Amino acid sequence: MKILSVNAGSSSLKFQAFEMPEEKVLISGVFERIGLDSSFYTIKLNGEKIQKEVDLPNHKEAFEILVEELISNKIVESLEEIKGIGHRIVQGGSYFDKTEVVTEDVIAKIDELSALAPLHNPAAIVGIRAAQAVVPNAVQTVVFDTAFHQTMPEENYLYALPYEWCKDYKIRRYGAHGTSHKYVALRVDEILGKTNTKLITCHIGNGASISAVKDEKCVNTSMGLTPNAGLIMGSRCGDIDATIVPYMIEKTGLSPREMDTVLNKKSGLLGISGVSSDSRDIEDGIKAGNERCILAQKMYVRRIIDYIVKYYFELGGADAIVFTAGVGENSIATRKAVVEGLKLLGVELDEEANNSRGKETLITTKNSKIPVYVIPTNEEVMIARDTYLLTK
Ligand code: AMP
Repeated sequence: MKILSVNAGSSSLKFQAFEMPEEKVLISGVFERIGLDSSFYTIKLNGEKIQKEVDLPNHKEAFEILVEELISNKIVESLEEIKGIGHRIVQGGSYFDKTEVVTEDVIAKIDELSALAPLHNPAAIVGIRAAQAVVPNAVQTVVFDTAFHQTMPEENYLYALPYEWCKDYKIRRYGAHGTSHKYVALRVDEILGKTNTKLITCHIGNGASISAVKDEKCVNTSMGLTPNAGLIMGSRCGDIDATIVPYMIEKTGLSPREMDTVLNKKSGLLGISGVSSDSRDIEDGIKAGNERCILAQKMYVRRIIDYIVKYYFELGGADAIVFTAGVGENSIATRKAVVEGLKLLGVELDEEANNSRGKETLITTKNSKIPVYVIPTNEEVMIARDTYLLTK
């Protein structure tokens, strides 16, 4: 069965087509600068990458081209062969604890949650509408980044604020990257050959979060109401003393919206280093002796270690620790610094094994009390799996 996995942003549309249940990727690609000038799309097929410049006035046009490409590249003979389309949704609030088939009620709820994910939820709805218009017979599903975290106990998802705020304004921890945490947790359990495990999953990319996972269910996660909590990220501050916000608003006269921009776009590695939000640039800065890059990296690593140790105690141990996403999969230096900071837990780095990028690897020695794995994440296949099950 042919299933499409789709991730719509405000001006982009990423997709992968799968043959299910084999999980074979048939074609993948991304449409960029939708609704802007100089729009184009890139397609990956049989190991080849093709880029084409086209007018993309809206997401529907992108979907139409997508379908034409599927047909002209003989991925499908006709539209009817695309049985299911799964859409990635960033914020599902407390409404959704699993993947759902799209209905008008589901769309209304995603729309209602837009205030918590203003860049993502409205764009995803545009993507769903475009898919419905172009491939009307396919089953449309929505896969939520927050769903995996809905199993957290109340004491972990509540903030110590007036209790009514949670009830009246839905202020609570929802988490993020849930599909990725779930994917790597299931994959590590497959490697370990059991499901009753205690895992600490570290999704360290431009955005970053760590989860504590017990028996394949999330018990705690570092992201909060929004994706700016917990770890230090590329340009997001993560956990800070909340009172800094009103204090600095008074000192600088920033509006709440401007303050939000500082906390999300001008903080993190970028804020401290003054150089970049990209850990590759920070690593180059460190090599060149840039003191602020050195400091930024120290803070970044410290916070990751803090969360791993916190979750180790919360879980009562760990059967494995996993690194995934851009930094987790590729930054040899960050992984080394984090693992070395876990020495007291009996974790022992295998330097040679750690010296690799972007592939599934055990990076600790045989003597290590906790194995540490690098597992490349695959949110698309998770979307395809759920969509296949609901379409079947
Ligand atoms: P993601 O958000 O998961 O796509 O991760 C993107 C981030 O991964 C980039 O901003 C970089 O900070 C990081 N990254 C990618 N490749 C490398 C690399 N070779 N070394 C260090 N960091 C990397």
